[in-house]
Amino acid sequence: MSFTGSLIRSIVAPLWAMKEGTPYLRHLQRLDGAKRRPLQVVQEDQWQKLQQLLSHAVSNTDFYENRFSQAGVIADIIKTWADIQQLPLLTKDDVRAYKEKMVARNIPKEQLVPKKTSGSTGVSVELFVDEESAQWKRAVTISYDRWSGWDIGERIGAIWGNPDCYQNWRSYLRNLLLIRHIPLDTLKMSPENMREYYTRLKRTPPSILFGHAHSLFLFAQFLEQNGLSGIHPKGIISTAMVLHTFERATIERVFGCKVTNRYGCEEVSLIACECKHGNLHLNCDTLLVEVLRDGKPVAPGEPGAIVVTDLTNYGMPMIRYKVGDVGVLSSKTDCPCGCTYPILESLEGRVADYVVTPDGSYISGISLTENFAMYLPGVKQMQIVQEAIDRLTFSIVKGESFSEQTVSDLHRLALERFGDRMTWQIEYVDSIQSESSGKYRFCISKLQNPFS
Ligand SMILES: [Zn+2]
Repeated sequence: MSFTGSLIRSIVAPLWAMKEGTPYLRHLQRLDGAKRRPLQVVQEDQWQKLQQLLSHAVSNTDFYENRFSQAGVIADIIKTWADIQQLPLLTKDDVRAYKEKMVARNIPKEQLVPKKTSGSTGVSVELFVDEESAQWKRAVTISYDRWSGWDIGERIGAIWGNPDCYQNWRSYLRNLLLIRHIPLDTLKMSPENMREYYTRLKRTPPSILFGHAHSLFLFAQFLEQNGLSGIHPKGIISTAMVLHTFERATIERVFGCKVTNRYGCEEVSLIACECKHGNLHLNCDTLLVEVLRDGKPVAPGEPGAIVVTDLTNYGMPMIRYKVGDVGVLSSKTDCPCGCTYPILESLEGRVADYVVTPDGSYISGISLTENFAMYLPGVKQMQIVQEAIDRLTFSIVKGESFSEQTVSDLHRLALERFGDRMTWQIEYVDSIQSESSGKYRFCISKLQNPFS
């Protein structure tokens, strides 16, 4: 680590935390050994925390008191892991409708931190996280970020939407002395801005790169196509979106290091993180994660909706919250990294990204994207929108090698994937708009599916 990095880690960060009165560095120390505890011990710990949270939620919020009593559930009858199936699931619509009633009466308002999701699946969700929970989340995120080889104080090339480090002088100073992000705004990823960013990274090399999976990919592709080389961080953290295999390959080739894939959401923060052995471990430090189909736990290897209970947020309890993504649990029970936390075999993307075919099968957006990107090299960018059970729109940005052949390949692939009862139209566009968060969606379905 550089001298500045060590100085920040050992002196600036602890002093800053002392001044702020934040305990995240102490939490971080506790988390250091936690991931190596036997799984049974981890689960007992989660169970204790769940019991406390349930009793708190019923005693201190109108929402859970009513919701649980309507469902005939009293916290005392939750005695085994199987019993938690009786607890009603919490949807994004619930949070939108009952936000105020979900806030705990016994937590002072000034200790609540407002959060807002980007709303990339339609409408955004607003919620509160209490200050204590926010500090745990901060520590947990750092503990997993370290898996990429990074540590506190080291410079980060941050490819992200709406960077906040220039918003006011406080955030500017904080970034300069503590956070050390070199930002590239993903809403402004023009060739000029990417070239300028490249020059900046050459001048002040970051320890790691961090960003949206697709934005990291776009930047890597831009460097490769323009013969710009020499950016070699020791790690890369990809987050906030599904990381496709082809994207990972390009990113790792261009920057010459491994990508650490991280999965999370604004509501509960980090849900899973990939270790150096390529296993995506669930965050058992602060969450309880379930994978369900039609409301029942699925076996390893089967896709299911990801449902999360935040074990630290007492300000506005989030119990059995449907995040809106689909994942598959792995049957692997141990990992050479030493972390005992269960492993996700894959993330299948958002519930809303599943295409339903007229014959009733479900195809995840991620598998479609991989397929189409692999076999259609003339397509620079693409978005699939399902308008109806038998109607798709392909929006296409033409690449340099686009030809008549690309179009006939596209028709052949679409016929193979969706069958002859599906119809589609092709629209050629100059670019595909990112959403307001700076994220980009490959596949959008306007229909319901068994995970929704
Ligand atoms: Zn591992």
